[in-house]
Amino acid sequence: MQTHFSEQQKTDPAIQRAEDALRKCVHCGFCNATCPTYQLTGNELEGPRGRITLIQDLLETEAEPSPEVITSLDHCLSCLSCESTCPSGVSYRHLIDLGRERIEQSGRRSFSQRTIRGTLARLLPNVVWFRRALRFGKMLNPLVRFTGRFSSSVAALGGLVPEHIPDAKALIAPGVYPAEGEELKRVALILGCVQNALAPEIDAATVRTLTRHGCAVVVPEKSKAGCCGALPHHLGKRQQTENMARQNLEVWDLEAWDLEAIDAVLMTASGCGSMLKDYSDLLPDEPSAKLLADKVKDLSQILADLTLKVEKPLLGPSGKPLVVAWQNPCSLQHGFKEKTAPIDVLEACGLTVMQPQDAHLCCGSAGTYNLLQSEIASQLGNNKVTALLNTRPDIIVSSNIGCMTQISTTMGKHKLPVVHLAEMVDWASGGEIPGAVNNL
Ligand code: SF4
Ligand code: SF4
Repeated sequence: MQTHFSEQQKTDPAIQRAEDALRKCVHCGFCNATCPTYQLTGNELEGPRGRITLIQDLLETEAEPSPEVITSLDHCLSCLSCESTCPSGVSYRHLIDLGRERIEQSGRRSFSQRTIRGTLARLLPNVVWFRRALRFGKMLNPLVRFTGRFSSSVAALGGLVPEHIPDAKALIAPGVYPAEGEELKRVALILGCVQNALAPEIDAATVRTLTRHGCAVVVPEKSKAGCCGALPHHLGKRQQTENMARQNLEVWDLEAWDLEAIDAVLMTASGCGSMLKDYSDLLPDEPSAKLLADKVKDLSQILADLTLKVEKPLLGPSGKPLVVAWQNPCSLQHGFKEKTAPIDVLEACGLTVMQPQDAHLCCGSAGTYNLLQSEIASQLGNNKVTALLNTRPDIIVSSNIGCMTQISTTMGKHKLPVVHLAEMVDWASGGEIPGAVNNL
């Protein structure tokens, strides 16, 4: 596409990157075919091609964003399915990120929207406050349901409150967990925020699984210091995202880990891992950001390199190997561009692995999306659950806490266990039965 940026605008590195992406776009519309919001509405402004045009206009004219632009960009899930489809290699993420930043800076949102978004950006990344909010939400939930007098965001947040709020003592402690037998790999595990508040057992299963298979696991001091930045990033809060990333690099103290000796850096929520991979783009002036980003891997990629210790396959109710439906999070399939490693790992565990129809489409979780755009999120959640259940699985497996929560809360009465890949491999290789399976 032709662009019309002024010489002055082109001095801005963010505009240079946006122009690069815009010039690659040939307006073919292939991306619309795999965009979840375009699939739901058939509306050009609810697809990537239309959004790209709106963002280009916003950046070139520097006009105030109209309500139409704000709605179109707010409805985008940042799932990056369009990037995976685009034959011209358009880096849509740079465009949507910059468009969102401009909307945030414009101050064109209502007071209530600014308050909700500001609160989410502060609350969710803080494990202590998030745990308090969950407890408060548990008390408030009956009132929300009874009166229906709260905003859809508050109601959606209430829907995330688990029946059982895990004890903070379940969090794994910083330290070095030695490999069982010969050390084949050394992995640094960063604990993060929301997942640790909702499901600390996932990281515990990860440590058991990795150490059992010859990996020493280093859990850095202060690795649960805070959010990787993905949550404010989803909200278009660039400065807060940058601040969090810089603060993380400082408190994680990479030098103390001996990064040279580490084979991989891991966060078990794939959305967070994908964010860490983007640190080098986010902080191009920070050498440690690139050092870290280059080492980031998903758990499935680490496990796919190891020989799993599975003696006999887990059996389902029919006496045949368990059937699992694999729900590949967008952050893994479109962010990491990883589609095969998790399936290889699950098959190496002796499981029968099914994939749902339209596996490329988002489940509607998308960071804070299901809190802010609950109507679309719920349609996407229902579609995803139907597709997963159509594969007739015994268990649903995923690797992102947001997707897991979205699927289990959407599933309602068809409740099947939804477990993390780490818990599944732990169980199959002689470890603990996942809580979600045990509690049924
Ligand atoms: S597929 Fe790529 S080139 Fe075609 S319209 Fe979409 S972003 Fe542009
Ligand atoms: S990121 Fe996802 S929702 Fe947004 S335009 Fe691309 S495919 Fe559509």
